[in-house]
Amino acid sequence: MHLMSERNLLMIPGPIEFEPSVLRALGEKTRSHVDPVFIKAFSRTLQGLRTVFAAPTAQPFVLAGSGTLAMEMAVANLVQQGDQALVVNTGYFSDRIGTMLERHGAAVTHLRADPGAVPLLEEVDRTLSTGGFKVMTVTHVDTSTAVLAPVKALAAVARKHGVLVVVDGVCSAGGEALEMDAWGIDVAFTASQKALGAPPGLAVLLAGPRAMAAWKARSRPVASMYLDFAEWLPIHEAYEAEKPSYFATPPVNGIMALDVSVGQLVAEGMVARVARHVALASSMRSAWKALGLTPLPKSDSVTAHTLSALYYPGAVDAALVKAVAGEGVVIAGGLHPALKSKYFRVGHMGAVSRSDLVVTVNAVERGLLACGHGVELGSGVAALG
Ligand code: PMP
Repeated sequence: MHLMSERNLLMIPGPIEFEPSVLRALGEKTRSHVDPVFIKAFSRTLQGLRTVFAAPTAQPFVLAGSGTLAMEMAVANLVQQGDQALVVNTGYFSDRIGTMLERHGAAVTHLRADPGAVPLLEEVDRTLSTGGFKVMTVTHVDTSTAVLAPVKALAAVARKHGVLVVVDGVCSAGGEALEMDAWGIDVAFTASQKALGAPPGLAVLLAGPRAMAAWKARSRPVASMYLDFAEWLPIHEAYEAEKPSYFATPPVNGIMALDVSVGQLVAEGMVARVARHVALASSMRSAWKALGLTPLPKSDSVTAHTLSALYYPGAVDAALVKAVAGEGVVIAGGLHPALKSKYFRVGHMGAVSRSDLVVTVNAVERGLLACGHGVELGSGVAALG
């Protein structure tokens, strides 16, 4: 067994391993939030985010906070008392946005699928046909189950009904194909610590023109001052135009780090980056299959590329997560309330490399053996290709 040193490999579905250059930017001397170097970095970051989300006409926002704050920013600005919202519910994080919508006064309809599945498009179409819905939310990758929702097709259905589309891209943006403009998505959000590749602490949200118009058309102001687009829009417009501005102190170091990571995403190119995630995920699927592990998502077409969720085999339980940690690789247990103790999760997004996968699959093999589950050592690694 390794001692759990600083050299373990973090393979949970966020936070992930970060590029040393990103961490160096985080650790630099904190500049004034009106320092020209910071202003330039913030401006570059906002422009880069439009590229990452394929959203040339959207307004990006970056706030101190986690992904949950980004969820609430979307909800707080788009809905008010009495609005109707449809939640395309694929698990834990869909439940969370449903609760938020209710707290902000919306009447919420959930379309739920069994864990591992996605509600049918026809069902979504039929529900939206009943009329009166203002927004539909979709969790692009439900991190609790590794289920990938067909966002492009779902957004097309909502567009047909004139319903605003909100996409939780926390476990997808920067790793899965996500084309905000082309797919007709009105709001998409994420957090820094996943496929965007920067330490936790930043909520990132992009709002397209229809979302901004819906916010402007509100009959009542947004109750939360911190989340109100009205406070942040002039600030973000100013920074993007390389002018200092102030509403609330920006997380300077976090944004300096995000600037470096977003720069890396833009340099890699989103098409190449998504293709790399798809290739790595396909290797992982082959490895899990060779080890006889069953994925939680019910089919390949609804399986995420940013993480794997796998049932514990045979008599194995959550002790596997500990055993794998003993091999120097940190993976995660289950999260979906209905299945929590029955499966584990492995993240593979961002700066993850093929050698990280080799180490991870090897550690899982050894962990399974330590848990008394017979596998052939090396068979998963060989199947990575
Ligand atoms: N949505 C999804 C899909 C997530 O995976 C997460 C975090 N795992 C969140 C929302 C919430 O983000 P945070 O933990 O950064 O608040």
